Amino acid sequence: MKVSDIWKDLNELQPIVLKMIMNGLAKGRVAHAYLLEGDPGTGKKQTALYFAKSLLCEEEGIMPCNECSNCRRIDSGNHPDVHIVEPDGLSIKKQQIVFLQQEFSKTAVEANRKIYIINHADKMTASAANSLLKFLEEPAADTVALLLTEQAQRMLPTIISRCQLLSFKPLPPDLLKNKLIEKEVSLPMAALVSRLTNNFDEAFRLGTEEWFAQSRKIVLKLYEVLLKNPLEAMVKLQEDFNGHFKDKQQVSLALDLLLLLFKDLLSIQTGNEQGLAYPDQLALLKNTALHSSIVNTTEQITAILEAKRKLDANMNPQLLMEQLVLKLQGGASFV
Ligand SMILES: [Zn+2]
Repeated sequence: MKVSDIWKDLNELQPIVLKMIMNGLAKGRVAHAYLLEGDPGTGKKQTALYFAKSLLCEEEGIMPCNECSNCRRIDSGNHPDVHIVEPDGLSIKKQQIVFLQQEFSKTAVEANRKIYIINHADKMTASAANSLLKFLEEPAADTVALLLTEQAQRMLPTIISRCQLLSFKPLPPDLLKNKLIEKEVSLPMAALVSRLTNNFDEAFRLGTEEWFAQSRKIVLKLYEVLLKNPLEAMVKLQEDFNGHFKDKQQVSLALDLLLLLFKDLLSIQTGNEQGLAYPDQLALLKNTALHSSIVNTTEQITAILEAKRKLDANMNPQLLMEQLVLKLQGGASFV
């Protein structure tokens, strides 16, 4: 990959983080420790490696060339002055940190800087975290620590306070959608799951799961039946819906799927066909939009939100759905 492509990717994903790093490099003000914090799939590890390359690249300038021997060895995990610590099983153990300290007590093998990257730093055991803390308290002039975490709240405050914080933004829906499509998730699924979560791993799991694909179909079917034949909607509810969405969490997801449908409808009614959760249902939604009004749709959205609130308050899911179906019919002047 060309360095300009990596830069473009990361800069699109995390412009603020990249700017902070590049400013520090340009001013020669590199901290001893950074905490890279954010959801999975937001580019933390890529950014850490890019940062390491920026510090050790043989070429002039702040941006790494991605082609010199240093850059290439960092990419392949073979640079003697760049150490990456990953959890050993479920945790990062004290001996892994002790080993790191021993390595760092030697002077840099080649470059004038040594960098260590600790991935999933929140998984350090208490004794590992305490060893690291001592290490951070007496930083060597030429050492840069990059700690990566998805759960900063699980880390020792004394460690956090010694790091410069780099906070990674959740992925915006459109970017997440495109990344899922790149991973061969279909457009309808990618569009939908990217509106449900901004966590890439979770989105990918949902977008490729048979149960979820079935959920989408059942909710769409219920919606269609609601329009055509309200009485049949009740039957559908008993037949398909209740059998598929069994527990509270599953019903909650069904309500989210339904909510996104009505939000799409509202979006179309207000003249916006971009960024829909169900782009492949445009014809159906446009047809509904002709027979309904913005006021009706808003009432329907309110009814779904109210159902979500009742579900949270532990109302019986079946009863709740029956009430909701009645309300969704009442609120609309369908054909
Ligand atoms: Zn280079």
